Amino acid sequence: MTHFSLDKFIDPCVRTITKHAQELTQLDQAIGDGDHGINLKRGFDALANLHSEIATLRFGEALQKMGMTLVLKIGGASGPLYGSLLMGMGKASANGPADFTEAQAMLEAGIALVQKRGKSGVGEKTMLDVLIPVAVAFEYEDFEKIRQTANESLELTRNMRATKGRASFLGERSIGHLDPGARSTNLLIHTICDVLEDK
Ligand code: ADP
Ligand code: MG
Repeated sequence: MTHFSLDKFIDPCVRTITKHAQELTQLDQAIGDGDHGINLKRGFDALANLHSEIATLRFGEALQKMGMTLVLKIGGASGPLYGSLLMGMGKASANGPADFTEAQAMLEAGIALVQKRGKSGVGEKTMLDVLIPVAVAFEYEDFEKIRQTANESLELTRNMRATKGRASFLGERSIGHLDPGARSTNLLIHTICDVLEDK
């Protein structure tokens, strides 16, 4: 892993979210209010307009700017949470990670801010149930292992009972469905791995 510019991640992430917006919305229809795909699409479309501004900023500042944009544009529960993730990561890494260890530390800082903001932790059927295992998997220093962890951890959200967010209103009835935020995180992790591996 070498120092990288954030710019090259934006368009692939926007394409992924656009391609899967309907799927994310359908997942959210099952256990939420059916807006997760639309929310994310609005946020990521706004990121696509930031290219020129991001090019003038250092890595950490750019990531914080992207996080603030997501907070403003996504709305809902996931806007402030994805925003916190990026802002926490940006604050932790002024120049961008140079290796897996630094990337892991950066991701952990972002996760800490999500947990603080969401008052949430492991096993509550949220995006954290993918983010946290993925951060641990950085230890393998292997993108395929990271992708595999993102898939396995997503699948585990199916049998969890939601205790945070709108899905928690369903109680036991939230069991049996994938968490939409865990799926969007899974998709973005795949996309970021693909960009880093130049796939
Ligand atoms: P809303 O619930 O406001 O409609 P979205 O549909 O965009 O927002 O996002 C829902 C997703 O947000 C959930 O699937 C879950 O992954 C995530 N989420 C909700 N509340 C929390 C929380 N407290 N901590 C972590 N993630 C959360
Ligand atoms: Mg929703």
